[in-house]
Amino acid sequence: MDLGIAGRWAVVCAASKGLGKGCAAALAREGVNVVINARGEAALNQTADELRALRADIEVRCVAGDVTQDEVRQALLDACPQVDILVNNAGGPPPGDFRDWERADWLAALDANMLAPIALMRATVDGMAERGFGRVVNITSAAVKAPIDVLGLSNGARSGLTGFVAGLARQSRLASRNVTLNNLLPGPFDTDRLRSAFKAPGQRESRLRGIPAGRFGSADEFGAFCAFLCSAHAGYMTGQNVLLDGGGYPGTF
Ligand code: NAP
Repeated sequence: MDLGIAGRWAVVCAASKGLGKGCAAALAREGVNVVINARGEAALNQTADELRALRADIEVRCVAGDVTQDEVRQALLDACPQVDILVNNAGGPPPGDFRDWERADWLAALDANMLAPIALMRATVDGMAERGFGRVVNITSAAVKAPIDVLGLSNGARSGLTGFVAGLARQSRLASRNVTLNNLLPGPFDTDRLRSAFKAPGQRESRLRGIPAGRFGSADEFGAFCAFLCSAHAGYMTGQNVLLDGGGYPGTF
């Protein structure tokens, strides 16, 4: 299927590795020009070269820096001639016990997983509406639907983003102008982040037993789903939270 987005421009945050990289690669394969971001410059440049190798007719630009910082987000916007597609992403907060978390810990989680995405949406969605096309995909977590106790910072901050997006997506000045905003909720995907969570022997196998699909997801299949949400064909779907978890969530809805 031709996704109908060749020649468009996308900003993909936190995209040198893992799920963000999967999204950038899937968009690049569709002929979308991408501006990618991450803090570490070497991995970012390496990923940019890999994306350029996917298609010779796209432009790939890099903005190194922490997406929670105002000046980094401004540099991302400056590097992109027009933002048709925005993929919001950042590292997830650390696990722990809420008794140990101070205000600064909460603010860091809110900055990365709620306020940075909102700031980028604020800067881009009205321009998308004026041009009659826009796609926003926020990478959140399956923990928004089924909270994980030790990930309280993530559960809280991402739920704040989810509630905000639910309202914004339904503004008719956006929805009637072909601007959609959706959240993708990853369950366990085989990325550096997931691998680093397995510290003791047997943890990986025990996690796998809870996934009906019998495997972890891949960044490529996550990216392919994201690219479809960003496609010309997905204009009637907005304000949704889509779980990609190999059947791990046990509920009917
Ligand atoms: P990953 O493999 O560790 O990759 C994270 C990427 O984000 C890297 O490119 C990293 O590069 C970049 N990054 C992190 N913090 C950043 C920041 N503040 N500013 C700019 N770039 C930043 O992680 P992942 O598994 O793809 O996870 C992506 C998101 O999905 C995270 O929020 C994670 O919590 C969430 N999630 C993942 C899973 C899973 O199973 N993988 C499940 C549920 C939720 P630098 O470090 O160089 O900046």
